[in-house]
Amino acid sequence: MSLAVVGSIAFDAVKTPFGERERMLGGSAVHFSLASSFFTDVHIVGPVGDDFGPDEYAILERRSIDTSGIETIEGGKTFFWRGHYEYDLNTAHTDDTQLNVFGEFQPKLHDDAKNADVLFLANIQPDLQRAVREQCDSAKFVALDSMNLWIDIAKDSLVETIKLVDAVFMNDAEIRQLTGQSNLVKAARELLELGPRLVIAKQGEYGAALFSKGGFFALPAYPLEDVIDPTGAGDSFAGGFLGYVAQHIAEGSELDEHSFRRAMTYGSTMASFNVENFGTERVRDLTGDEIGERFTGFKQITHFEEVAVSYR
Ligand code: AMP
Repeated sequence: MSLAVVGSIAFDAVKTPFGERERMLGGSAVHFSLASSFFTDVHIVGPVGDDFGPDEYAILERRSIDTSGIETIEGGKTFFWRGHYEYDLNTAHTDDTQLNVFGEFQPKLHDDAKNADVLFLANIQPDLQRAVREQCDSAKFVALDSMNLWIDIAKDSLVETIKLVDAVFMNDAEIRQLTGQSNLVKAARELLELGPRLVIAKQGEYGAALFSKGGFFALPAYPLEDVIDPTGAGDSFAGGFLGYVAQHIAEGSELDEHSFRRAMTYGSTMASFNVENFGTERVRDLTGDEIGERFTGFKQITHFEEVAVSYR
């Protein structure tokens, strides 16, 4: 039972209306790995500079994440992202992106990562995502995330990559932008026509929607009173979803509509913890009991009974 993720490993500087951090561990692959590590063995792959030290490794290794696929570029600097949020926490404003060691990154996966059951192509240049996909022939389930930057500058490549995956995780606005369709249902169906089995539209504080060839499912975000920093919520969502999928595959169970609905709930559960503190500060110290309780909480807030009503 294992899962591999390739994506950014970063230092983030983030300011929200509730505080700020000048330099904290971040990156799409990091948020994803921490969330998925509660469900399965995780191999993280990506480049860092020699400013990435023992404190950062310790956060990943405490969750038993395999860090042997982290490649240190001597003399290089780790990817850096600076962003801020206004009171509308759904929109991240990017103030600075320094690709640093990511500029020259050519992914080469080690055998454990290549042989993982589940592969997540986190938000990186779509040509690189394809280069990784081609190294993982035996993966049973492959998913990708992307962002408006790649739709703007590498749309054709992104479409080619989408044809090679089982699931697409994207923000609703990005799905609309990619397809040119203002209606999300039509837009998601257009992406399904390209080949993936699932399209998951992330909608920030409004939750997430799952589109499959014959079905639809949606969950609200968990009703939290204190949301501190949404950075990494999307990747934590994908981590909970795919971590559960990896565990389900390892049990020999078939992936059907019911299992994908549970995966949506684990995704929403992990995203809800992520936003409760800055960066990785909440998820890295979570317990299994807390995850289980919130999963049950989701069932309670989304369940209703059908009774006979006469319509007139
Ligand atoms: P999200 O889950 O969408 O909030 O992802 C947040 C993470 O994405 C942050 O920790 C950033 O380090 C990382 N990030 C921001 N911009 C980029 C980019 N252009 N490529 C890869 N990762 C990025």
